[in-house]
Amino acid sequence: MDKKQQVSVILERLKKAYAGTPSTALRFTSPFELLVATILSAQTTDVLVNKVTEKLFEKYRTIQDYAATTPEKLAIDVGSVNFYKTKAKNIHTSAKMIIEKFHSAVPKTMAELTSLPGVARKTANIVLSSAFDINDGIAVDTHVKRLSNLLGLTKQGDPVKIEQDLMPVTPRTEWGNISHLLIVHGRKVCPARKPKHDACVLFDICPSRNI
Ligand code: SF4
Repeated sequence: MDKKQQVSVILERLKKAYAGTPSTALRFTSPFELLVATILSAQTTDVLVNKVTEKLFEKYRTIQDYAATTPEKLAIDVGSVNFYKTKAKNIHTSAKMIIEKFHSAVPKTMAELTSLPGVARKTANIVLSSAFDINDGIAVDTHVKRLSNLLGLTKQGDPVKIEQDLMPVTPRTEWGNISHLLIVHGRKVCPARKPKHDACVLFDICPSRNI
């Protein structure tokens, strides 16, 4: 089985196993809210981010609200997440840039999104895929990195190189899905500490099943 065929089987089985699972565990009602939640989620669990954004999104309703406050005040509102001061500053500056450079609308291209502070390819891919249904790349987080190595789809450790290995063997229409499904599978069945090989729907096609 070549890598394209392997990815096709992985997608088919994980889609079946996780049918109905939302494309992201982060809660949002607009592209900007997803951008905010994704910036906050670096090195932080989605559960904590959702707790923080529940109140944050009540307080700040529009992009203009985020731009009108100060990074210091915003930092207090997101104080329970890691690196909250930097994240607050990035959210504040992003809001101002989106108003000034992008007519108050979250941009829909990789180049424009990654021009915002605190937004690298992973964040941009999540926003493009989950907010706009645009497949411009594959979001590689810690689960995608681990699973794609375990499954033998890459030997790389750098997320950008992993993304480059995954894109040619994955149909473009599935770029958002593969990231989302590997994340769910990593959380539920194949966590770093104790992979549940026996319960895994990918057991027979996984070169790491005996690790
Ligand atoms: S067989 Fe084991 S190592 Fe491979 S994906 Fe499944 S749980 Fe992870």
